[in-house]
Amino acid sequence: MKITLLKGDGIGPEIADQVVRILDTLNLPFEYETYEIGQNAYDKYGVLIPDEVIESIKKNKICLKAPVTTPVGKGFRSVNVGLRLAFDLYANIRPAKNTDGVKTRYDNVDLVVFRENTEDLYIGEEEVIDDNTVEAIKRITKTASDRIIRSAFEYARANNRHKVTCVHKANILKKSDGLFLSEFNKIKEDYPDIEANDLIVDNTCMQLVMKPEQFDIMVMPNLYGDIVSDLTSGLIGGLGLLPSVNKNDDVAIFEAVHGSAPDIAGKGIANPTALLYSACMMLDHLNYKDEAAKIRNAVSDVLKNTDVRTPDLGGSSSTIEYVDEIIKRL
Ligand code: ATP
Repeated sequence: MKITLLKGDGIGPEIADQVVRILDTLNLPFEYETYEIGQNAYDKYGVLIPDEVIESIKKNKICLKAPVTTPVGKGFRSVNVGLRLAFDLYANIRPAKNTDGVKTRYDNVDLVVFRENTEDLYIGEEEVIDDNTVEAIKRITKTASDRIIRSAFEYARANNRHKVTCVHKANILKKSDGLFLSEFNKIKEDYPDIEANDLIVDNTCMQLVMKPEQFDIMVMPNLYGDIVSDLTSGLIGGLGLLPSVNKNDDVAIFEAVHGSAPDIAGKGIANPTALLYSACMMLDHLNYKDEAAKIRNAVSDVLKNTDVRTPDLGGSSSTIEYVDEIIKRL
């Protein structure tokens, strides 16, 4: 089975190599097609996302992607957004769950954020009106809202989850978020077995910090999904632990939520767990559920029973030392 592997830049290659090392210990029938994207590809080929990357993902349907820097203000679009739009990967799914052995203020977090991935303020339609004024378009459509809301309910049903919460700001954005909320209220009628409620985004943030255990599946427009899911990463011990998938019904790109962390790139101390958990989501998706569970158990075992961990989790180990411990347990 062929998997498209994008090692990215910054800490990307350091963590991607270690995750592949871990997967290699499980004798999975994977072959990787590895490509450069982002600044590295731009320097070599003059494009951020080479055509061969698109072709490879189109063919393989599965991609494991390490973080890639989005060059600021260079006039080209974000690589991450570009890939999501190229494949119309409308669902960005970010599960936040406590890991045994990682001490946080909370021990009862087990929630999944469904972030709409194709519209809202991320369409990048901004206009300078005059010296004093810039406008940005927030686009919400029925089609995009319906499919992300429906996929959240379907996921809840398939994974024995009991509740879906719609997060919005429809009290102020009465038409745009109003549309998202009214679609939610229609669709929930098709899922009488799942509890459904809605919450204003600011209240959601407060509730998440006060009582995260009340949340199960959460579905929201693009920008709130970006912000709320970084908050949820804080609940479980930080960005180094939060995995994700960007998917539609055909193609899935698995990636860590965090960026390329240029501040620690090259130091050998990046936490590979978020990308590793993303790889576990990929294994679940491909029906290698036992292998995914083995990896998650090995991670928990290391974090629970040893002091080996990267500095972001309060340790002093290198990426490689940490991965060596995981591999010992596999
Ligand atoms: P983006 O805009 O692409 O999300 P960013 O610059 O906002 O990127 P990150 O690159 O995710 O943010 O980094 C935010 C902070 O978290 C940085 O201090 C970084 O070092 C830290 N961080 C992110 N990922 C990791 C990781 N895997 N291991 C350790 N620290 C990390």
